Amino acid sequence: MSSGSVTILVVEDSKPVRMALGAALTAAGYGILEAPSGEDGLQQADGAGLILLDLGLPGISGFEVLETLRGTSQVPVIVLSGLDETDAKIRALDLGADDYVTKPFEPGELLARVRAALRRHAGNSQPDSVQVGPFEIDTVTGETRRGERPVRLSPMEARFVRMLAQRCGQPVGTKTLVQELWGADNPEQRQALRVLARKVRCKLEKDPDAPEILLTEPRLGYRLIDAEPAAAG
Ligand code: CA
Repeated sequence: MSSGSVTILVVEDSKPVRMALGAALTAAGYGILEAPSGEDGLQQADGAGLILLDLGLPGISGFEVLETLRGTSQVPVIVLSGLDETDAKIRALDLGADDYVTKPFEPGELLARVRAALRRHAGNSQPDSVQVGPFEIDTVTGETRRGERPVRLSPMEARFVRMLAQRCGQPVGTKTLVQELWGADNPEQRQALRVLARKVRCKLEKDPDAPEILLTEPRLGYRLIDAEPAAAG
């Protein structure tokens, strides 16, 4: 898939990180805008098709940038965070970030996150189905098939899979999942979510203990792996 003419704004105060991000994105065909501060980032945001946003910035923080942006814009935002900043990631997702990338980042993973975020925002057109590994998942019903063979999911499992498929390749927070699936967020429902994920893994994964399709985002939620591009023609 061509990156087209998408311009990505990198808001990051560390020059080495900015340069590494710029190199990875330029190599993949994206245009780059750079901002060393949140203020600068907000000024350039109009020109961006996607924003990579560091959370720890001098002056206004990445959180403030995100909040300000979300007042007027649905531009995809991927936050850059440290390894052990789970609370910051959760807060950023709650504020409307689409995803996060943990520093130090793997270029391949970064690009996969960027593609997933751009695809989800492309014209707001949610595809009717996504191809995830060997499975085709209907994003309206959660119906899942492997080739011609339907995977037998309970109604609850199908709703769970549907929610993840609608944000294919992006994290979906535990709170969001539990509230939509059960209407309330409490420890019992969070445990029920773990049981539900386990059941789905038993149906989708070669080894449910080493998932390759339905990934756990530690302390945060779940993520379906990035969808494969639709077959040409
Ligand atoms: Ca920083």
